[in-house]
Amino acid sequence: MLIPISRRDFFKLAGAAAIGTLIADRAAPSKAQADSLDPTLNYAGRHIPVLFDVDVCVCGGGPSGVAAAFNAAQNGVKSLIIEKSIALGGLAVLGDVIPCMETKAPDSDTPYVKIVKQKLIAHGINHDDGVTGQVWTNPETLALIYDELCSEAGVEILYNATLVDALVEGDRITTVIVQTIAGLAAVKAKIFIDSTGDAYLARAAGVPSERGYEKTGNNQPMSFRFEMGGINLKKLYKYVVGTLKEDWCKSELPHFEIAEAMHRKQRYKLEEFMARGVESGELTQEEAEYMQAYTIIGKDGTMSMNCPEIPIKFRSTDPIEYSRAVTYGRLMIRNISDYLIKHLPGFEQAYIAREAVMLGARESWRIRGKYYLVEDDYHNQSRFEDAVARTAWFIDAHGEKISEPLPKGGFYEIPYRSMVSERIENLIVTGRCISASFILQASMRIQLTCMSIGEAAGIASAYALKNKIAANDVQWARVPNRSYVSAR
Ligand SMILES: Cc1cc2nc3c(=O)[nH]c(=O)nc-3n(C[C@H](O)[C@H](O)[C@H](O)COP(=O)(O)OP(=O)(O)OC[C@H]3O[C@@H](n4cnc5c(N)ncnc54)[C@H](O)[C@@H]3O)c2cc1C
Repeated sequence: MLIPISRRDFFKLAGAAAIGTLIADRAAPSKAQADSLDPTLNYAGRHIPVLFDVDVCVCGGGPSGVAAAFNAAQNGVKSLIIEKSIALGGLAVLGDVIPCMETKAPDSDTPYVKIVKQKLIAHGINHDDGVTGQVWTNPETLALIYDELCSEAGVEILYNATLVDALVEGDRITTVIVQTIAGLAAVKAKIFIDSTGDAYLARAAGVPSERGYEKTGNNQPMSFRFEMGGINLKKLYKYVVGTLKEDWCKSELPHFEIAEAMHRKQRYKLEEFMARGVESGELTQEEAEYMQAYTIIGKDGTMSMNCPEIPIKFRSTDPIEYSRAVTYGRLMIRNISDYLIKHLPGFEQAYIAREAVMLGARESWRIRGKYYLVEDDYHNQSRFEDAVARTAWFIDAHGEKISEPLPKGGFYEIPYRSMVSERIENLIVTGRCISASFILQASMRIQLTCMSIGEAAGIASAYALKNKIAANDVQWARVPNRSYVSAR
């Protein structure tokens, strides 16, 4: 049940009429600000407090949301992130998604991506293995870096706050309603950015959206990632690369990955090893189907397991199936780890060190915006005047379609129009839920591309506010300090 805070309790909580005192360490608003701000709002017949009134409110603090809030603030507007967990980083931190895949597009690093990479190095995470192009990270360090970035740019963060509703007047969102530790509360802003990954805000505001593959109705399968500690990495590497002669694994000690995926064309040497588990009855076919693990910088002897892949019948967009997937996936984790500990050289002393606190939903809902990116945009290497990023990661729609990579040096661009809709003028959408088909999304969803999209959203929101332009009408090609210029 949602617990609204009564007006009386709210003032008691605040201890004063200045709403700034509600949030520890937050600078109290000036008297003028406090006077101009109605401290409560009527929602569903109840008075609830207005916690913030900001220029830009970013809902969701994943890779794209942090990028958006940071860049809005860097461009001189007051920005806030609403995040339902207590760490920024989204799937990269809460879902234990490691590493950031390289975009495969030449010169794709936008200024913000460079900042994140520099921060990693400053924190002792030398992310570049010189072979794979992947950015190897560490979830706890990434969460710290994101806090730091927000603090440096002056971004306010509202943790442990779940976006539950949007109040719309005409074609503008005026307010969002959040569930906080103290009950329901409101946040007002001039521009809203939906970085929830699930297009939650856009859907709540009536923006058209779609989910899953139009041909099958399926969402991409979710994974329930976890970490295993106590691994003898040298022994494991020697077995996989030396004994099994796995030549797919290009990275080398101390940072490397192991994998197998039975449904792919690529044949991995560990496939037979997992298939033996099915024969012996120790693993189900579902558990053996997909197994992948990456070492984690700064956690010696620990690997991030990009598995189990949860059967497709558990949809990421169905609340009951999502919930059942957690229980089902947890058992899969146990069976896979038991099997590895028993049979895989290097895992003899291993143990489950951590479970992700968020299921790995690769895809859920996507908006239908002013431009709809489709598979042809990948193959045709589309260019757009209003491009905000370039990418070339292959189409990786688990269970549905795996594309050939683009030719070396090839890439397609992502237009600003795929981040905005006709319906709501003060809304920008970022990350994995922009306007793209199921198949195209399976390419653009990688973290570095999501960051560049979020970066553009932040810059565009500040530009729109300063120039009194609707966010969905920004002509990105005219933004003087744009983070990416089209290669057209
Ligand atoms: C299993 C798996 C493996 C992957 N592997 C890789 C990989 O190896 N490399 C790579 O680069 N990418 C990988 N990806 C893709 C990548 O992690 C995501 O596409 C990317 O993180 C999307 O970023 P985002 O900002 O759009 O959203 P997310 O990372 O999904 O972040 C969304 C944020 O919004 C918050 N939120 C959601 N709803 C609400 C709400 N109602 N109120 C408040 N907060 C809310 C969430 O808590 C979260 O912090 C993988 C994804 C999965 C699922």
